[in-house]
Amino acid sequence: MSQLSAWDHPEPLSLDTAPLPEYGSGSLADLLPTLAAGMGVPGLTATIEELTPADRVCVFLIDGLGWEQLRAHPDEAPFLTSLLGSSRGGTGRPLTAGYPATTATSLASVGTGLPPGVHGLPGYAVRNPATGELMNQLRWHPWTSPRLWQPYPTVFQLAHDAGVHAAQVSSPAFAQTPLTKVALSGGAFHGRLTGEERMDLAAAQLAAGDRSLVYTYYAELDGSGHRYGVASDTWRGQLMCVDRLVQRLAEQLPPRSALYVTADHGMVDVPFDEQHRIDFDEDWELSAGVALLGGEGRARHVYAVPGAANDVLTCWREVLGEQFWVASRDEAIAAGWFGPSVDERVRPRIGDVVAAAHDDVLLIASEREPKESALVGNHGSMTPAEQLVPLLEVRS
Ligand SMILES: [Zn+2]
Repeated sequence: MSQLSAWDHPEPLSLDTAPLPEYGSGSLADLLPTLAAGMGVPGLTATIEELTPADRVCVFLIDGLGWEQLRAHPDEAPFLTSLLGSSRGGTGRPLTAGYPATTATSLASVGTGLPPGVHGLPGYAVRNPATGELMNQLRWHPWTSPRLWQPYPTVFQLAHDAGVHAAQVSSPAFAQTPLTKVALSGGAFHGRLTGEERMDLAAAQLAAGDRSLVYTYYAELDGSGHRYGVASDTWRGQLMCVDRLVQRLAEQLPPRSALYVTADHGMVDVPFDEQHRIDFDEDWELSAGVALLGGEGRARHVYAVPGAANDVLTCWREVLGEQFWVASRDEAIAAGWFGPSVDERVRPRIGDVVAAAHDDVLLIASEREPKESALVGNHGSMTPAEQLVPLLEVRS
């Protein structure tokens, strides 16, 4: 009887049930401030407990390596798995990415040590209040001034100013990008094409200072997850490759070093059917009153035409509320989705309505976003599969 009436009157998901990122104690934004504070860089606070300071610190960020996906594939990642538990005295634990769990947002959280509500990259695509247009944060398109968009210094800049040797070792393609500028600048950027070259150079850069802070990055695991799915042969092959890269770097650590392996987000595979892929471009109810559709399939920012925000919220909650946490801008900010506080300049970049996927569903837009709508693996929301990323430690 009670089950029947529940079916008759579906209740939208309560916002209280959304598992918030652990801002201030265990999120990506806490990592570099904790590590740099341990080196004596002034103005920063160590907020992650249990991390022992080291003079030379390397952060290796593996795009798309979620904690749950790593735990599910020990055979493909024997070295990383050995860092999870007790066999090497491993101190592996998960961090939370921050909301949304997407690369541009997470890289900015890592590099600035600030939550999304402060650094101001609160999504894959958000409205630029100055132009009223959507801006893709990953491709930085259309262009806007990086310094105005994200005015805070990065932790690398603070470390460099304090006399720490700071360096980033990544793809040459990222050397001059605005995202690199706002998230990773400070010290010197070194472009290397292959993962092996990056590991070798990261180790050399660590040794180049008495105190050093080095960041390195690998993208291809995320790409194979998007195209073929988590646990596909291609994804598992990439995980094996990543595992060897981490071991290669770990074996070259100079004295007094700590290597931290982490990621920007995990991933969720979404089935290809209409129940799991709701198409905004085909849905007149969802698109009524919407001026701009931002974010991505599992983490939407919805910008309403003037005066329509409440109607859009009501409709989205009615249509999507059982599968998505659907919040107004004020509700999402008050609940702390983007961090404990949101800067005034950042508020209008957040949607009038914000929708975060709870189930293995996507809100695609087959006409506006044909490429993104065809991805197998996706991320962005607050589920553990997306939010939890590893924090694995190797010390020399
Ligand atoms: Zn991705």
